[in-house]
Amino acid sequence: MLSASGTTIFEAMSALAREHGAVNLGQGFPDDRGRLDLRRAAADYVIDGHNQYPPMMGLPALRQAVAAHDRRFYGLEVDWQSEVLVTSGATEALCDCFLGLLEAGDEVVLLEPAYDTYAPVIRRLGAIPRPVRLVPPAWSLPYDELAAAFSPRTKLLVLNSPMNPCGKVFSRDELAVLAELILRHDAFAVCDEVYEHLVFGAARHIPLMTLPGMRDRVLRIGSAGKTFSITGWKIGYITGPAALLRPVTKAHQFVTFTTAPNLQHAVALGLGLDDEYFAGIAAPLARGRDRLVTGLTALGMPTLPCDGTYFVVLDVTRWLRPGEDDIAFCRRLVAEAGVVLIPMSAFYESGPPRHLVRACFCKEDATIDAALDRLRTWVAVQRT
Ligand code: PMP
Ligand code: GLN
Repeated sequence: MLSASGTTIFEAMSALAREHGAVNLGQGFPDDRGRLDLRRAAADYVIDGHNQYPPMMGLPALRQAVAAHDRRFYGLEVDWQSEVLVTSGATEALCDCFLGLLEAGDEVVLLEPAYDTYAPVIRRLGAIPRPVRLVPPAWSLPYDELAAAFSPRTKLLVLNSPMNPCGKVFSRDELAVLAELILRHDAFAVCDEVYEHLVFGAARHIPLMTLPGMRDRVLRIGSAGKTFSITGWKIGYITGPAALLRPVTKAHQFVTFTTAPNLQHAVALGLGLDDEYFAGIAAPLARGRDRLVTGLTALGMPTLPCDGTYFVVLDVTRWLRPGEDDIAFCRRLVAEAGVVLIPMSAFYESGPPRHLVRACFCKEDATIDAALDRLRTWVAVQRT
């Protein structure tokens, strides 16, 4: 039963933040309110009467916009009628993929640290998660362990790039290794690419779907929440070959059937915005990352590399009490410093690292500075 699962760490830590009046660098949501034109469009569509069930696979306008987006950014040719499905967020998209494709006994290779939705749903379906741990600080792929995790029973690889929580963006060489394993084992991939436009510096997001042999084996998931800073809207989209998408659509029809039409209309407008908009998404986030990283480093909380997403991981070894783990540390930090971070153990099936925590930087300078001020005061007390 899912009653064995706790409340998600993001919900739990945001509740603690509210309780303690803490600065919340835990759950990943931006301070940015999102573009006024999209918000106004969503409101206008409601007023103008777009309030009844839209088509099950999503409004044509949004499915066409997703296909055009995939062509514009990745050169992918996608048939909007049979190869695009709109869902109520990437979370539903992930569940639909697992519900639609997995049978009891199927194995699913996961890369840890893994987003917390994957394993519980996979296990609930009677399928078996096969976690492979990336190796910090560079979060490199352990190739031998990866190869050993694949078996004749492997049905899926779940790949999250850019990767929450560690900010890793997979390189073409790494993707080529994953593609080769998928082909060798006649498997498929569910690619969680919700942070596709949130990539910094020289790093580039390459969808696994664009690699040779992968077009017919990958379901690619995006989310308007991240691309337009509107995480509460919960509009996701899946692109994939018709044969693979068909059972996933069956899952969607039983889970939510469809998704709010006004929000779909507004997201279609968003995906049609000019290149300048998309090119400008990452820069303010990279500045937030740098501001937070500089501040944390100065406080004796070194950070690990981060090339994308909303998140950076920090090493808090120096601040742990004897025997204290990352969960106890984060709870203590809320109470003592008034700052919420996320313990990394939430992203591991078993035997997690205990000295790493995740911080969110998709925040205004004032929020980041307030968190750093509080941490500075806390650190000063620890040193006395
Ligand atoms: N996948 C990852 C890696 C995420 O970080 C998130 C949430 N932020 C989701 C999926 C879920 O996205 P959505 O809010 O669109 O359901
Ligand atoms: N994806 C967000 C994060 O990693 C949280 C989403 C949620 O609260 N379920 O922080």
